[in-house]
Amino acid sequence: MAERLVVIGGDAAGMSAASQARRRRPDLDIVALEKGRFTSYSACGIPYLVGGEVGRAEDLVARTPEEFRSKQRIDVRIRHEAMAVDLDARTIDVRDVEHERSYSLGFDFVVFGTGAVPIRPDLPGIDAPWVRGVQTLEDAASLLAEAERSRCRDVVVVGAGYIGLEMAEAFHRRGAQVALVEGAPTVMGRTLDADMAVRIHGGLRDLGVDVRLGEQVERFEDGAVVTGSGRIPADLVVLGLGVAPASALAADAGVELGPRRSVAVDRRQRTSVDGVWAAGDCASTWHRVSERPVHIALGTVANKTGRVAGIDIGGGYATFPGVLGTAITKVCQTEVARTGLTEREAADAGFAVDVATIETTTTASYIPGTQRVHVKLVSEQGTGRVLGAQIVGGTGSAKRIDTVAAALAGRLTVTDLVDLDLAYAPPFSSVWDPIQQAARQIRTTPR
Ligand SMILES: Cc1cc2nc3c(=O)[nH]c(=O)nc-3n(C[C@H](O)[C@H](O)[C@H](O)COP(=O)(O)OP(=O)(O)OC[C@H]3O[C@@H](n4cnc5c(N)ncnc54)[C@H](O)[C@@H]3O)c2cc1C
Repeated sequence: MAERLVVIGGDAAGMSAASQARRRRPDLDIVALEKGRFTSYSACGIPYLVGGEVGRAEDLVARTPEEFRSKQRIDVRIRHEAMAVDLDARTIDVRDVEHERSYSLGFDFVVFGTGAVPIRPDLPGIDAPWVRGVQTLEDAASLLAEAERSRCRDVVVVGAGYIGLEMAEAFHRRGAQVALVEGAPTVMGRTLDADMAVRIHGGLRDLGVDVRLGEQVERFEDGAVVTGSGRIPADLVVLGLGVAPASALAADAGVELGPRRSVAVDRRQRTSVDGVWAAGDCASTWHRVSERPVHIALGTVANKTGRVAGIDIGGGYATFPGVLGTAITKVCQTEVARTGLTEREAADAGFAVDVATIETTTTASYIPGTQRVHVKLVSEQGTGRVLGAQIVGGTGSAKRIDTVAAALAGRLTVTDLVDLDLAYAPPFSSVWDPIQQAARQIRTTPR
C-alpha cells in the first residue's frame, strides 16, 4: 500500500507542502484536510475584498480543491476538520462538517499547517456574534455577510496593528462610520518605533476615521463598545489585536511548543516527533538578526516554510534560514514598511545601536508629484552592521525596504549600504537613494 501524507490546513503552508511533496513523490497518497470551503487563498487580499476592490471571495483563490485533485492528485477534503491526532497510532479523528459524520484517517507523515487565530481578549460580551476576528477567507465571507445584515453603519475596529488599520480603511471604503480603538499611544506599536508610527495617524483621521489612541476597551454590550471614555456605537466589531498560533491540535498530540505556543520546528520544519512537520503561522521560526526563535505570522514565511517541509517529506533537502520580519502595508496614501529589528527590539536583543532618521523625497525634489519619505535605519555600534530599517512615506516609498532586507541577509554594514550601486534617474529617487541617505547620516554622526 502507498505511504500516506496528511496535510492539516489547506492554505499557504499546507498546500505548498502538499505540492512540493507531490512533485518529488508521485507514489505518495496525499490527503489535505481543510475545515473551510476554500484552499490556497490570499488572506492578505481580504481587506481589498471587504473594501470592494475585489468582487468575490473566489477571486482570492489561487487554486481550487478541484484543481488540486485533477492536476496534482491531491485528495483535498474541504469542510473536513481534524479534531485530534494520535501520533502513536498514526491516526487522525476527522469531522466531515457537511455530512455530520466522523471517521478515522491513518497516516505515515503529517504536516500541521493550521495557521493562526485572531486574539480574542477575555472581556464581557466578547462572544457576541457581531464581534468578529478575521483570519481565513471563510471568516471574511461570514464577516461580509454580517456587514450586509447590519447594513454596515457603525463599525469599530479594536486594535491598530496592520490588519486593524487595513480593515478600518476597508470598512470606510464600504461607506461605514469607522472608529479605531487602540490601547497604546500609537498605531502599529508592535511593528514600528513610536517616532515612526506617529507619522501614520494623519491619513486615517483625514479620511474621517475616529482614531482613539490610549483608550482601553472594557466590554461589548447592546450594539456598543464600552471604553474608559464612554460608549461607541457598533453594528459590527472587528478584532485587530494580533494573532496566536493555532497550535492546540499539535500540542494536544504531544508535539513540543516554542515561542508564544507556536509549534517548535528545526530548519527543515521538522517537529519534535518523527514524521511530523509544521509550517506557516502555526509554527515557530528563527530570527536571522536577533538569532532567537520567534513567532512571526506572515504569508511570505508560510509559503516558504511549507515549501521546505514538502521538499523534506519528498526526500529532498531544503532548509529555511529564518526571517527578518520584513513587512509592508499601505494606510490610506501612506506606505509603511519595516525589516530586521526596530530600535526597541535591537535594545531588547542586547545590541548597542546607532540610529539615523531622515526625511527626504521619493524622487528628485524637482519632479512634480514627489512625495515625502521618512527612513529610520538602525545599526550596531562599533561594527556598523545594519540591524533594521523602517520606512513611512508617500507612493514609491515602502518597497525600498527590500534593499535593506537584502543588506541584512548579507550582513552588510552601513558603509556597504552607502557604496551599493543602486539605480538612479530623477523620476525614481535622488542621486543618493533615501536608504543611502540614512546610511550616510549614521556614518557621519560623531559619537
Ligand atoms: C487580513 C489579513 C491581511 C494579511 N496581509 C498580509 C500581507 O499583506 N502580507 C503578508 O505577508 N501576510 C499577510 N497576512 C498573513 C497571511 O495571510 C498569513 O501569514 C498566511 O495566510 C498564513 O498561512 P498558513 O497557511 O500558515 O495559515 P492560514 O492561512 O491561516 O491557513 C490555515 C488553514 O488551516 C485551516 N485549519 C485550521 N485548523 C484546521 C483543522 N483542525 N482541520 C482542518 N483545517 C484546519 C484553516 O481553516 C485555514 O484555512 C494577512 C492576514 C490577514 C488575516
